[in-house]
Amino acid sequence: FNNELQRSEKMEIISQLAASVAHEVRNPLQVTRGFLQLIGHRSADQKDKNYMLLAIDELDRASSIITDFLTFAKPQVEMTTILNIAEELGQIEAILSPLATIQGGELRVESNFELYVRGNSSKFKQAIINIVKNSIEALPTKGSIDIIAYQEDSTVIIRISDNGVGMEESELERLGEPYFSNKSKGTGLGLMVTFRIIEVMNGRIYFNSIKGVGTEAFVSLPIAEIQ
Ligand code: ADP
Ligand code: MG
Repeated sequence: FNNELQRSEKMEIISQLAASVAHEVRNPLQVTRGFLQLIGHRSADQKDKNYMLLAIDELDRASSIITDFLTFAKPQVEMTTILNIAEELGQIEAILSPLATIQGGELRVESNFELYVRGNSSKFKQAIINIVKNSIEALPTKGSIDIIAYQEDSTVIIRISDNGVGMEESELERLGEPYFSNKSKGTGLGLMVTFRIIEVMNGRIYFNSIKGVGTEAFVSLPIAEIQ
């Protein structure tokens, strides 16, 4: 029991340290990005402009790794409220529809209005967004992504399905492993963060996939009763 307490105290210190380092690093990255952009605009040389764009891309990549890492380091410190699943999914649809359209895909959301769970709104959205983004990135030139939410016993199930490239069994097994990515610009942190958030919400997540056919993700969360 004593050991448990020490471990959680240590985890708390490590989390806080990680969070503050991440914050400190993010600021100089943003400042550097601003100056690079400025130099890029001023330069008449197309080659230089391209180098600036590449440098900015890499900075953005570093920033997104830090954001993922921050979420991983302290997802439970955030405030929780009762979340209306239909509302949350509606916001996700608004955020990601343009991205889906650019990829030639269509994003469809269907949810009963009476589904509630407890959690932190922005963390919950990040968890689902990371799944949906993968679906969008997996789409061939034309495809669709369906998100449906329903109740099953005392849980809310959110099913996200796509008709994208799909995965082999060996890939499925590695989902959520840090730095596992098959993308040239992937961080391999998206699902790690998602798994962690769902875990903190006392939920479960699993994937089915067939190579060349598509993928479906199931997220189940305990239902929150509304008084
Ligand atoms: P990233 O997107 O940065 O690669 P993720 O943790 O989000 O990292 O995903 C890890 C890997 O899992 C992806 O690179 C991809 O190979 C695979 N993957 C995840 N979701 C899907 C999906 N819907 N369809 C096909 N492959 C997927
Ligand atoms: Mg991803």
